Amino acid sequence: AKARGRNNFQYYDEALTARARLRVNLGNASHTACANKELELYYQPKVDLSSGEIIGAEALLRWRHPELGLLMPDSFIPITEENGTIVEIGDWVIRTAAQTAVDWNSKRLKPLKIAVNLSPRQFKQNDLAKQIEIALTQTSCRAEWLECEITESLLLNDEPGVQTTLQKLRAMGLSVAIDDFGTGHSALAYLSRFPIDVLKIDRSFIAQMGKNDRGTELVKAFTSIADALGMTTVAEGIETNEQAASLNGFGCEIGQGYFFGKPVALHDFNKHFL
Ligand code: C2E
Ligand code: CA
Ligand code: CA
Ligand code: CA
Repeated sequence: AKARGRNNFQYYDEALTARARLRVNLGNASHTACANKELELYYQPKVDLSSGEIIGAEALLRWRHPELGLLMPDSFIPITEENGTIVEIGDWVIRTAAQTAVDWNSKRLKPLKIAVNLSPRQFKQNDLAKQIEIALTQTSCRAEWLECEITESLLLNDEPGVQTTLQKLRAMGLSVAIDDFGTGHSALAYLSRFPIDVLKIDRSFIAQMGKNDRGTELVKAFTSIADALGMTTVAEGIETNEQAASLNGFGCEIGQGYFFGKPVALHDFNKHFL
């Protein structure tokens, strides 16, 4: 048992070193990922739950790494948050999404809206609103075609810069959504202090629906809070027709999830959804 313990430790140690090495490599490589055109946005449809009509998409980042293949955001975003490259990458995400919105909406009567994820570090730069304004001007994208998804944690420690940036974005015409609603250290008080348009209910609650009455009740309660405050509700992680139907019954307006479509490359999105 002793020997096995030692082997396990050694194995663990090696795995740890490999992971640490990968982190350093990815961190270094992330500085050039933008320039090398290794980044890509995938798009996942968002659907009006009462009509079934597509109303837009969420842009989700992918990194096509030359050696490691397609990397998912959870494997590299934390590293880029730490080393600061998220700022440049985030700017690229906004520009690329804005360009896609222009391409889609030039041929449409009813515009599609694209939601982009903004990381806390990116949001705390004091010129974020200015940066977005420049991206909109350069691409001729209308502010109404973009939505910013931010997380609760950003709103919890009442930093004055955050409030100012949110107000600027709203004044420009962008909408703001709280992502993963209900999972952070939710202090609902922030809902009265910050100008928020959309509550995006975390997919963990949607997954509990039907299996667990309390999960269902929470989703209903979130929807009525949003409604009372004049906000729109989006449910993420919808995987079944039953979930979509119940959510529509509760008054949740918008749905997103594998049931409607997985995130796909732009070319495939255009082919399948437009
Ligand atoms: P998120 O914003 O909560 O995005 C939703 C995640 O849930 C996506 O994972 C999506 O593929 C997945 N998903 C969508 N529908 C379903 C479903 O029906 N079932 C299940 N099980 N999963 C579903 P993804 O693409 O791996 O993104 C992970 C996270 O990475 C995102 O979570 C977001 O926080 C972050 N992220 C993605 N793109 C960006 C970006 O451009 N900038 C920043 N800062 N973060 C990003
Ligand atoms: Ca999101
Ligand atoms: Ca989410
Ligand atoms: Ca999430």
